[in-house]
Amino acid sequence: MTTFKGKGVYSAAAMGRIRVFRRQGAQVRRQKITDTAAELLRFEKAKAEAIAQLRKIYEKALREVGEANAAIFDIHIMMTEDEDYNEAITEMIKSQSVNAEYAVAVTADNFAEIFASMDDPYMQARAADVHDISNRIIDCLTGNRGDSGITDGKVIICADDLAPSETVSLDKSKVLAFVTAHGSSNSHTAILARNMNIPAIIGVGEDFLDIINDGDTAIADGSTGEFILNPDDETVLNYERRQQEEAEKKELLRKLKGKENITKDGRKIDIFANIGSADNIGAVLLSDAGGIGLFRSEFLYLESSDYPTEEEQFRVYKRVLESMAGKKVIIRTLDIGADKQAAYFNPEKEENPALGVRAIRLCLNRPEIFRTQLRALYRASVFGRLGIMFPMITSVWELQEILELCREVKAELSADGTEYSGDTETGIMIETPAAALISDRLAPMVDFFSVGTNDLIQYTLACDRQNPKIERFCDPKHEAVMRLIKFSAENAHKHGKWIGICGELAADTELTEDFLRMGIDELSVSPSFVLKVREKVRNTDLANKR
Ligand code: PEP
Ligand code: MG
Repeated sequence: MTTFKGKGVYSAAAMGRIRVFRRQGAQVRRQKITDTAAELLRFEKAKAEAIAQLRKIYEKALREVGEANAAIFDIHIMMTEDEDYNEAITEMIKSQSVNAEYAVAVTADNFAEIFASMDDPYMQARAADVHDISNRIIDCLTGNRGDSGITDGKVIICADDLAPSETVSLDKSKVLAFVTAHGSSNSHTAILARNMNIPAIIGVGEDFLDIINDGDTAIADGSTGEFILNPDDETVLNYERRQQEEAEKKELLRKLKGKENITKDGRKIDIFANIGSADNIGAVLLSDAGGIGLFRSEFLYLESSDYPTEEEQFRVYKRVLESMAGKKVIIRTLDIGADKQAAYFNPEKEENPALGVRAIRLCLNRPEIFRTQLRALYRASVFGRLGIMFPMITSVWELQEILELCREVKAELSADGTEYSGDTETGIMIETPAAALISDRLAPMVDFFSVGTNDLIQYTLACDRQNPKIERFCDPKHEAVMRLIKFSAENAHKHGKWIGICGELAADTELTEDFLRMGIDELSVSPSFVLKVREKVRNTDLANKR
């Protein structure tokens, strides 16, 4: 048994036979040609064929992974038609009298190098796209069709790397998992694997290709990033036990997927999902959540070694909004500080960090950071249905200052001629007793509330959420917490606003009925709890007096 560690890009596991993906791309050789006009014609014909193939792949992707993810093949078509790219190829054919295959291969290397040298990881990942389109044109020139090597049964596809078009072109019904030596989690291959719901691990390193053989057995575990070659009996047993648990979850999914979140007496609520990264979207879509109730945007900052730029943030928010295809997405602004620290913020030492410069306090103290995020959010708002949520609110003046900043940012965007959606909702987290107690004053100023029970419990019961020694003093169902939630719900509704819960308590099905009776409109939970909560809602009868 040999274990390789890579990066899981879709959290599911599969066990089966390996098939090494062989790219049949012919070795490209430099050849002198005499008739450059004929060679240019050959190139144009191959390019037209490549575009026709890409159109077909786009259609397949549209059916299998949705419009937002199919869009990459539209981009591939545009790249294939790109003026600079085409000029570089045709100029080389004309000026050097070389064969089209060689001109395409050299141009691909040059363009890919430019992308790879860029600072932005998203742009770096585009190098693979240039190679993908160029290999397609070369295959069209040589008449090569490519072959996944899959003949019968389902297999784990192992490859050096996979291009997006290769990923989509594989017969999904025959693929158990993808494992690649290289690749980045930003690559479209990773995104597609996620959206095809196929276990996938990238970047296990080149060594694995020297050891594996067609027909070997392996376990690919996308949740841990482990690729286990020739697993021993105990590992197989463990795997089978976990798969059994997964199968039970899937059965629940099958029964409840597409069903409404409705009580026996007809009360409907929204069940949304919490995420910490755009990479969790696949899990959200699979969970059948009605939207995203909490995107903890601070992880974007925590994963970064410097302040993420407006452009970097815009791209992430846009991707999330597009992937959710019109479903509501609530993005919480930066909630850094306390237990979530990044060195480049240069945090000062504090006696009580949970009571210190965290979340909205940091944003209001350092408005330049906040403005960058707000600009990125409003710019992204046109790509879906966005709600912006502010954490750690305690006072009316804070919210006034925040809303003023939002107005300024929107005015700046309008002045630049940059679009934003006028339907963008703004809301606050109710996670301090102060916010709950003045919720009657805050409700008229926003579109919604979302209760952050993790912090509301900590601040109401004076219990540090990080300290395991005080757990018995920290009853999450404490009457004081319940009263604050109920009071906030009453005030939200008095002012015609909706209220959700996005803290961990939202997933506690012992409390679902209580929350419904309080009038909670939305529960936002981690994707794996969506169906459990749906099941509970559907088994609840609020007409039964307690
Ligand atoms: C909460 O406090 O309940 C919450 C959702 O925010 P976080 O856990 O990120 O502090
Ligand atoms: Mg919180």
